[in-house]
Amino acid sequence: MHRKTISDKISLEGIGIHTGRVAKITFLPAHKPLGIRFIKQKKSSKPVIISANLENVKTTVRGTSIGEGAEIIHTVEHILSACAGLGIDDLDIEINSNEPPIMDGSSVEFTKALLKAAIKEKKEQTKFFLNLDNHFEFTEGKSHYKVKPHHGLRFKLKFANNHKLIGSQTIEFNHDSASYLKEIAPARTFGFKHELDYLLKNGLALGGSLNNAIIIDDERILTSSGSLRFDNEFARHKLLDLMGDLKLTGFDFKNIFIDAEYTGHKTNVNFAKLLKSKAVKTI
Ligand SMILES: [Zn+2]
Repeated sequence: MHRKTISDKISLEGIGIHTGRVAKITFLPAHKPLGIRFIKQKKSSKPVIISANLENVKTTVRGTSIGEGAEIIHTVEHILSACAGLGIDDLDIEINSNEPPIMDGSSVEFTKALLKAAIKEKKEQTKFFLNLDNHFEFTEGKSHYKVKPHHGLRFKLKFANNHKLIGSQTIEFNHDSASYLKEIAPARTFGFKHELDYLLKNGLALGGSLNNAIIIDDERILTSSGSLRFDNEFARHKLLDLMGDLKLTGFDFKNIFIDAEYTGHKTNVNFAKLLKSKAVKTI
């Protein structure tokens, strides 16, 4: 298989969930095999290029942030998830803010935009995947990840919360691009009302609203449309995030079964580092 990018450029605009600021991103075809890169535009100096890789992760609090020097881009995981879902290897993303637009809180708008820009194989560049010779497990706090060789790329993810309206949810997913668009990309970010109140008081989640997040209070699950998109939308969104964080390895995966529970960005990133160190490159 060959490395993939897009054929045309395409832009999206919207507010960032933490900053509340309007941001514009433009997805650009990337001819060189340099991975996913954010290109932060500066008013009075040259743009700063921040590669989406594990070495550049700066924080994993309320989302995954990457940076280069003093320049940081927050909440990159949903765009990276769209790239993982579609198998895009190389993409330049111009951005005029320190956080991409959150859109509807899922990755579906990013996924659709990338598809609209037409995914293209770069015939002269071979694509390498990561796979495994052996199984292993990783535990950090409550988070647990089990990985083993498998036929195809398969995920299982469990999310549970003792809120009476959530309980325990599981998603099982065999990866291909069309299924990602339908089954995973539309799953939205979610948060608890008491957390949101706290974040707002502390100057975070300034753009957070029902337009871009599912909000759970003591008695209700609130959404812009009035209902969930899937019964297990929370587990699906957790898988969307995991796929985005794993894209920081710089690779897509092949013939692996990843079975994870109680995941978060911090543990996803630590798991990604371990997985990358244990994996073997294959075509
Ligand atoms: Zn997310």
